[in-house]
Parts: sequence; structure tokens; C-alpha cells
Amino acid sequence: MTFVITEKCLGERYASCMQVCPVYCIYPAEHNGEIFAVIDPELCIDCGACVPECPVEAIIDDPDLSPQWAKINADLAPKFKDAPMPDVRPASDPPRKGNIYNDPRNK
Ligand code: SF4
Ligand code: SF4
Repeated sequence: MTFVITEKCLGERYASCMQVCPVYCIYPAEHNGEIFAVIDPELCIDCGACVPECPVEAIIDDPDLSPQWAKINADLAPKFKDAPMPDVRPASDPPRKGNIYNDPRNK
């Protein structure tokens, strides 16, 4: 099995998960023109260390919960395997999409 990063990471990519992964299998990626991150299913050891680090709860522990995003992670991992580590955003930095959707001017 493998953990999977879902659409909540799209446009956010705090990168805090990447710092705690003991096998360095979380890669910065892009998907549909938005910054993203993916977990390499070939390397993930299912330790769960990344889950509590994600401020937007983008990481799920079972690919069967989202086969669509499991496939996207698996497909993108080889492409972004060697991408350099991005700057880490502090958890206190509010979600960008949360700002957009919660802003009354955008409703
Ligand atoms: S901590 Fe969450 S939002 Fe940040 S890169 Fe990891 S999965 Fe994406
Ligand atoms: S579950 Fe563990 S090994 Fe898998 S991506 Fe998260 S921190 Fe890395």
C-alpha cells in the first residue's frame, strides 16, 4: 500500500510533509498548472509521519479511498523524483484557496 496526496494540496504545497518523510519519497510536483506534491508509491513505507504535518489534511492513508489521486501520484512520481526541495511554508500561513473561497467578496 501507499499513502496518497489528494486535491487539497493543489495550489498549496506547504512542503512540511517532505521534511519528515524518512525515505524522502514525497516530491514537489505540478498538476494541471498548479503546484502540488506527490508520494512515490514505490518507496512509501506507510509510516504515517507525513499525515499530521499537512495543514490542509491532503494526505490519505489508503489509495482505495481515492483511486483517481492514487493514480495521479503514481504517474507523476517518476517525472518529479529529482525535483529540488521547495521552500517550506509555515503552518500559520493560511491556505491560499481557503482565502479565496472564504473571502466574502468572492461569494
Ligand atoms: S504538507 Fe500537505 S499541502 Fe504541503 S505539500 Fe504536503 S500534502 Fe501538500
Ligand atoms: S507515509 Fe511515511 S514513507 Fe509514506 S510518504 Fe508519508 S512519511 Fe513518507
